[in-house]
Amino acid sequence: MKYLREYRIPFSGLAAGEHDFKFEIDDKFFDCFEHSLVKKGKLTASVQLHKQENMLIVHFDIKGSIQLTCDVCLSAFESPLDFQERVIVKFVQEEWDEETEEVIILSKTDYELDISTLLYEYINVRVPYYAKCEEQGIGITCDPEMIARISNIEQSSVEGENIDPRWATLKNIRNN
Ligand SMILES: [Zn+2]
Repeated sequence: MKYLREYRIPFSGLAAGEHDFKFEIDDKFFDCFEHSLVKKGKLTASVQLHKQENMLIVHFDIKGSIQLTCDVCLSAFESPLDFQERVIVKFVQEEWDEETEEVIILSKTDYELDISTLLYEYINVRVPYYAKCEEQGIGITCDPEMIARISNIEQSSVEGENIDPRWATLKNIRNN
């Protein structure tokens, strides 16, 4: 987890106003999260932090690609990502304030903002439930050889030894 220390923004010494930061996200980053759906990727997060007296407004501009596995042909492929997110960090908890996806409450003694979990969540949330070369990839289609091989495996398991007895009966009827 030491690696994730890089993803902290020490804001206490910053003057009021806007400050820009850049973070590189790679395979080592995703390795730090055991349950990450994304295992491989290469992205850059440009972070703009706007410091105000009682809050920070943080904009994220995340670009790059992640590796997905196609649910149709089982090939790994690169899927481009390009998206923005925003979070507001408050230091004084008002009665009506609740920590939400958009609002983080830090204590007045905190001096740095750890963005590693935010980056992890922003990227993982973009992994499609059903990945397909043609949809999330760019200029690629499913590997026809792999599809042929997969359908062969499926077929041979139907015709295999461990056949459901009801199927066997049907087959015998058909063969007669
Ligand atoms: Zn595919």
